[in-house]
Amino acid sequence: MPKPIILTVDDEPQVLNAVERDLRRHYGSEYRIIKASSGQEALEAVRQLKGRNAPIALFLADQRMPTMSGTEFLAEARVLYPETRKVLLTAYADTEAAIQSINTIGLDHYLMKPWDPPEQTLYPVLDDLLSDWLATVPLPYDGIRVAGTLWSPSCHRVKDFLARNRIPYKWLDIEIDGEANALVEGLKLEERRLPVVFFPDGDVLVDPDNLALAQKCGLQTQATQPFYDVIIVGAGPAGLGAAVYGASEGLHTLMIDREATGGQAGTSSRIENYLGFPRGLSGADLAQRATAQAKRLGAEILTAQAVTGVRVEDPYRFVTLSDGTELGCRALVIATGVTVRTLGVPGIEKLNGAGVYYGAALTEAANYRDQPVFVVGGANSAGQGAMFFSQYASKVTMLVRSSALVKGMSQYLVDQIYNTENIEVLTRTEVVEAKGKDRLEALTIVNKDAGETQTVPAAAVFLFIGAVPHSDLVAGVVERNRAGFILTGQDLIRDGRRPKNWKLKRDPFALETSVPGIFAAGDVRQGAVRRVASAVGQGAIAINLLHQYLKTV
Ligand SMILES: Cc1cc2nc3c(=O)[nH]c(=O)nc-3n(C[C@H](O)[C@H](O)[C@H](O)COP(=O)(O)OP(=O)(O)OC[C@H]3O[C@@H](n4cnc5c(N)ncnc54)[C@H](O)[C@@H]3O)c2cc1C
Repeated sequence: MPKPIILTVDDEPQVLNAVERDLRRHYGSEYRIIKASSGQEALEAVRQLKGRNAPIALFLADQRMPTMSGTEFLAEARVLYPETRKVLLTAYADTEAAIQSINTIGLDHYLMKPWDPPEQTLYPVLDDLLSDWLATVPLPYDGIRVAGTLWSPSCHRVKDFLARNRIPYKWLDIEIDGEANALVEGLKLEERRLPVVFFPDGDVLVDPDNLALAQKCGLQTQATQPFYDVIIVGAGPAGLGAAVYGASEGLHTLMIDREATGGQAGTSSRIENYLGFPRGLSGADLAQRATAQAKRLGAEILTAQAVTGVRVEDPYRFVTLSDGTELGCRALVIATGVTVRTLGVPGIEKLNGAGVYYGAALTEAANYRDQPVFVVGGANSAGQGAMFFSQYASKVTMLVRSSALVKGMSQYLVDQIYNTENIEVLTRTEVVEAKGKDRLEALTIVNKDAGETQTVPAAAVFLFIGAVPHSDLVAGVVERNRAGFILTGQDLIRDGRRPKNWKLKRDPFALETSVPGIFAAGDVRQGAVRRVASAVGQGAIAINLLHQYLKTV
């Protein structure tokens, strides 16, 4: 823990220096002594210290100051630091004001000036107050703090980004935490924007984008070289697989992800069917292990950078990043995966992030403790989500379009769901409307067989309803199907003919796209088996095929 602070304020320089000298002599080894020459200056210091979450043990303020009295200063300072002990320095004439302050601002003590000798009149009083403070005030959290409201999509994005990049933070809900609210108010922002992210070094970011947040958190966002043997776009299981094999086989490898490593798998609460983990493991754990492995083997990883375009200038391939940087490589792997489809029913869009979540949104689960939540979808990911949320929610209702769960889900998961008391499965049921002003309050659902519609209270709904491929970055460069999935290997051979503009005297390799040297792996490929193991496997195979390609250029 950093040294706790004693802050003293007085407008008379001589008195201020004398107090500071006496405080330093007795407390200097254990406390940081800070002085201010006016109430306003002291208040500004208090705001900055709060921004850094620095612990203040004691305020020692002179009552008589021209623009802001000691009592006025303490009244404002205690909003930010309610536990800090408060002492007024008074002249005899101020005794009445000091006594009043005991009631109005919870003053702990008042001391008459002069306080000589300090051994008798100052230190015993302060010793008592400080030991009391030390015994009762918990150690402050000295990591990143995110202040905002639960119902803001921006707050959800920032929390999700930090969580997915495995950066610890503390969440401060300004709607229920007065201290946190005062902290945000203290910034005196022209326009109130949330969330506000406080860093231990005192820096504050207001509603930062992912790139600014990543840079401040020390994640790598810029490549160290302009050119690599292989660039991998997307750091989900397929990208991570390619990075591990690429780097371990001596290729100078760069992997780029617009959010965090782990991809969709990183959002999964529990992956039970990945080889080698008999008790299952969380997606975050898998992502962390694979990221560490890829880095140890020498791969470079950029996060919070999207690839916006791909360009071919034979024999090289180039990618453009969202910040405009262009990087070159000898071969490219597109492993950009998919996003789950959105539900286009009335009311749902404006509540996105405010009770409506796509995918598992694990960080939100604890916010819905003892409340009713819904899971839409009937595939494995929906089943895993329902199992996870059932640990927090009072009840989880699964809404499934088909007539039975078992159609889209592994049997082990179906068994787990039916054995979990607080999960109910409604088949042949769909959401037709989401209701709520600032946050989700209810869902209107319809049973397709009976045609019955009912509106049910809902604190949150988690949607797992199909996927859209992330392939815009290669639009017009490589061949895609109508839904946007990338064609590879034999899918590119039509009526025995190779793709247009294909000049090589061989067919495209199994994971090669319509442009030689550009490979695709994982969910973004047409016909991919959407599983972690197959994505990882394809990442590894892409590297093997890429070696074969590189031998020919
Ligand atoms: C909630 C959930 C649970 C699941 N559970 C399981 C399970 O238990 N077992 C199982 O086998 N499978 C499971 N799956 C499926 C599995 O996670 C996916 O098949 C797998 O993650 C696909 O990997 P991928 O690397 O192809 O793509 P993704 O995991 O989608 O990763 C793609 C990455 O590319 C990045 N990206 C996209 N576009 C760009 C761009 N332009 N620039 C830079 N980066 C970009 C994305 O940010 C993302 O990180 C689950 C999926 C979900 C959503």
